[in-house]
Amino acid sequence: MVESEYDICIIGGGINGAGIARDASGRGLKVLLVEQGDFAGCTSSASSKMIHGGLRYLEFYDFGLVRKSLAEREVLMSIAPQIVWPLEFCIPHQNSIRPAWMVRVGLFIYDYLWSRKKLPRSSGINLSRHKFGIGLKPQITKGFSYADCWVDDARLVILNCLSAKENGATILNYTRCIGLKRSKSQEWSITLKDVKSEKEFKKEFKTRAKIVINATGPYAHEFLKNTNQLKNDTPALRLVQGTHIVVPKLYDGDHAYLLQLKDHRVVFVFPYGEYSMCGTTETDFLGDPIEASATSTEKSYLCQALNTHFERQTTPQDIVWSFSGVRPLFEDNETDVRKISRDYRLYQDRTGDALLLSLFGGKITTYRTLAEEVMEILRQDFPDIGNNWTGSKPLPCCPVEITKNSAPSEDDLKYFIEKEWAREEEDILYRRTKWGVHLPKEQLKETKILLNSLLEERDKS
Ligand SMILES: Cc1cc2nc3c(=O)[nH]c(=O)nc-3n(C[C@H](O)[C@H](O)[C@H](O)COP(=O)(O)OP(=O)(O)OC[C@H]3O[C@@H](n4cnc5c(N)ncnc54)[C@H](O)[C@@H]3O)c2cc1C
Repeated sequence: MVESEYDICIIGGGINGAGIARDASGRGLKVLLVEQGDFAGCTSSASSKMIHGGLRYLEFYDFGLVRKSLAEREVLMSIAPQIVWPLEFCIPHQNSIRPAWMVRVGLFIYDYLWSRKKLPRSSGINLSRHKFGIGLKPQITKGFSYADCWVDDARLVILNCLSAKENGATILNYTRCIGLKRSKSQEWSITLKDVKSEKEFKKEFKTRAKIVINATGPYAHEFLKNTNQLKNDTPALRLVQGTHIVVPKLYDGDHAYLLQLKDHRVVFVFPYGEYSMCGTTETDFLGDPIEASATSTEKSYLCQALNTHFERQTTPQDIVWSFSGVRPLFEDNETDVRKISRDYRLYQDRTGDALLLSLFGGKITTYRTLAEEVMEILRQDFPDIGNNWTGSKPLPCCPVEITKNSAPSEDDLKYFIEKEWAREEEDILYRRTKWGVHLPKEQLKETKILLNSLLEERDKS
């Protein structure tokens, strides 16, 4: 499966690794992408799932990031309409937190920082008369509406992997990079481990420019440390956990809410089938990012945020599902987590010619532009790589109807195992689809039995 030589090896199959694999392979580079768990198994399936400019970042004058993200919003809507769709937001207004004029100015800037082709402009609304007011506490009478986009984050990663595979890339999940060494001939010697079979194999590959890309997200610093590649000037990461809760439906309708809280943070509430989804928190994180899980403090905080806005009261006991992810933020020694930029930085280590390129920070929204910037860096090593292309070529579609709420067929399940690298129950039920959350209990039970027999068969073969 793994060949002896690649132009680039990408470590980490989150959105950034997958996006780079797609872009580079489409330019004719020979690409290997390895992921230690499942694709999108870490931060990239635990996001708030917004493709957005980041209205909140305007408060910290991060206009560059907002502009770049708004431009990407248009691009992603056009290349992946099957998983990126417009979403209207309502901001219930609380004058004690931000004056109305400030919200209005923010929304005006948001409307005009980049042209919108498909999304409506923001406006002020009277919540005692508008449908967005139904379900909110009756004393909240004033609000605003604006539009952004919602994305199936985990599927965005898979579609990028599928596209990279179509372009000839080698794509492996459950494969961990455990060693990295610059050899005398100025190439990387990489040690990989098949996590499932616990077999270890060593893969050496030779290229003219010999490049490894560290796209390990929240593991970026630790990965460099474990492979003895840390340098004095290696940037630091600030790891910040964010939790979402899924609770019984708080309102009808396809719109979302941006709630302004007394501590000046904002949390979002999204429609989520028969449920509502609410997040996120921002808690400094220590430990292994894959083990991040909702704390009781976070659950109470989010319930409290809901209870101050919605008539229907929610307690932590009502939570039907929760998920947590760890933001890999570029450490700029800012004490207030809200103010740390959500933009990315690329760090190049060219010691001895063989490039090791590490990514720090970033958003789902900007994964494609990040990949294009990486390509510009690679141009030094591969002058013949072509021009930017990923913004105009659609991502592939999935033949299985993943949003249906009835039990999937055997063929549906086989598709994910045979074509989309699924190896565990969770890979299908909570990432490639959300059947684990949305299927009725009995159907879920039957699906799990069938799925496990198919997975067993696959492991034997
Ligand atoms: C709560 C929360 C909400 C967010 N909301 C939004 C949002 O609404 N919109 C938005 O645009 N962005 C959002 N983000 C940010 C976005 O989710 C992240 O920036 C993005 O997912 C990071 O992707 P990544 O590929 O860098 O990291 P990851 O998705 O974490 O991928 C890195 C991968 O590297 C793998 N790895 C690590 N070490 C190794 C190794 N040795 N060998 C092989 N593989 C390895 C890991 O297993 C992991 O899967 C949010 C983030 C959080 C936490």
